Amino acid sequence: MKKRGSHKCLRCGKETAYIEPCDYCEPKRMVCASCIKSSKTASKIDRKVICKDCWGRMPKRKAYKSA
Ligand SMILES: [Zn+2]
Ligand SMILES: [Zn+2]
Repeated sequence: MKKRGSHKCLRCGKETAYIEPCDYCEPKRMVCASCIKSSKTASKIDRKVICKDCWGRMPKRKAYKSA
């Protein structure tokens, strides 16, 4: 039986009520709060999320910081 309102993090496999897509994974992965390294709102509609894996990769980290 499937639980409602539960999502699986694609990075650590943990089940959690709240996950967000990492904007820097290719393809995008849904990650839980503890796998998200940082997130910010670049504009009113554009929210950027970066996971811990992408944070460890310089080109992606730079892309996040300049977004
Ligand atoms: Zn996770
Ligand atoms: Zn990522």
